[in-house]
Amino acid sequence: MNLPEVAVFDLGKVLVDFDYSIAARRIAARSTTPPGDVQRFIDHSPLLVRYETGLMTREQFFREIRQTTGFLGEIEEFAAFFADIFSPMPEMIELHAALRRAGVPTFIFSNTNDLAIAHIRRDFPFFANFDDYVLSYEHGAMKPHATLYEVVERVTGRKGTQILYLDDRVENAEAGVARGWHVIQHHDPKASIARVKELGLLPKN
Ligand SMILES: [Mg+2]
Repeated sequence: MNLPEVAVFDLGKVLVDFDYSIAARRIAARSTTPPGDVQRFIDHSPLLVRYETGLMTREQFFREIRQTTGFLGEIEEFAAFFADIFSPMPEMIELHAALRRAGVPTFIFSNTNDLAIAHIRRDFPFFANFDDYVLSYEHGAMKPHATLYEVVERVTGRKGTQILYLDDRVENAEAGVARGWHVIQHHDPKASIARVKELGLLPKN
């Protein structure tokens, strides 16, 4: 078996957990719309997809949210609510640190937006320690679209079995498998760490 040379990490539910209901409650408290409706409007909505595909700016995204929810504040207040939904996943952040110590190049590969990334850069020091970042909104495509996987292969300078990719979502994982990458569909840190060791990126003990 050909073993991987680099590790490519999804961000949400792999390195940081997130909960849009936190943002929805805080935005709703400053708007004319109930939290459930606010959450439906931002979480996995066509609007968020457009934003995370880079088809709209944060200002345009904010204006649409404000129009629909009746949000009373300005963009700075909205941005603070919208992005403050993340919590660290310590075992996986430590796995990443161990890979760095072992000299393994590491990369972020995420469907995301500039508000979330600005927040994560500020609040999560581990985020600075990757070789490079493939972020959906900078490339006009989202996982599982092949375009974004091609960007990963270009940025890492690797392909096929040279890449190990960790992602929690089945459709994203399958798109990696289809390109011949090693893929861990992440659910349980212990299982993922054991698999990384099996693949030779970290010592077994
Ligand atoms: Mg994820």
